[in-house]
Amino acid sequence: MPILKVFLHILIFCIFTLISQIGGIVYLVYLLLSPLIVRRIAIVKKYRLFGFILFAGIYLVISLIIVPLIAPIFGRVPLPLFNKHLKPLTVATVLLNRHYLKPQLLEVAKDASNEINRMYPGTVTYYLDANFPFFNGFSLIPHLSHNDGKKLDLAFYYLLQNNSEYTLQHPSPIGYGVFIDPVKGEQDQPQRCENQGYWQYGFMEQIVPQWNKDKFILDSRRTKSLTMLLASHHSIEKIFIEPHLKQRLGLSSPKVRYHGCRAVRHDDHIHIQTK
Ligand SMILES: [Zn+2]
Repeated sequence: MPILKVFLHILIFCIFTLISQIGGIVYLVYLLLSPLIVRRIAIVKKYRLFGFILFAGIYLVISLIIVPLIAPIFGRVPLPLFNKHLKPLTVATVLLNRHYLKPQLLEVAKDASNEINRMYPGTVTYYLDANFPFFNGFSLIPHLSHNDGKKLDLAFYYLLQNNSEYTLQHPSPIGYGVFIDPVKGEQDQPQRCENQGYWQYGFMEQIVPQWNKDKFILDSRRTKSLTMLLASHHSIEKIFIEPHLKQRLGLSSPKVRYHGCRAVRHDDHIHIQTK
């Protein structure tokens, strides 16, 4: 096999592993199976299409059926895909295996979402990135701390700008990168971090489309209720939210802390972690 081809396979293995943890293994299985299956059934022109279907098939079986069965051995369970009150904002979170966590944290998220729905009927709590299914220390890129099953990001709740009604929609397609900026008189920590040279702090804003930003406003009531509920839970150790929102929402719990300029802005989501 030419050296360039070997290098390409290694590169694909690494990228798939970084973004979904099991993607690299799936790619190896695909490389083993494809000469046996695809080349026998595919006519020359459809070779790439059959190859893609085979890879997608292996990936989905391993990701959606096998991994959820094995992950509990490693102490992690998946967040629900079809729960009425707790859902992924984007199905990509589930397809990329970014929704695993310790059972204790799953219970916290379920309890909080049920309670919020009891307080505000019809409310859906959307989860964002949690952790990969296996191995402590394997970070969920780009969240370096999401590496032990004890971390979870939850989306804010929003109202529509034009009628101030609660909406199930979200300004960002991935949940991150559309910020609730500080207003006059509030602590502008993003600006301070930027002034100190931490270019990554607000980087998500550069890569996530901003065209829906003005159509939404933060649902302060629901978001404050959720944060206070989480802070009052004995399993929760820390909650990260941007300082100006802590101030705006009147959050006084000592568990609500600042994450530092080395992280990223937390005025687009809430980060929670257990002990
Ligand atoms: Zn986080």
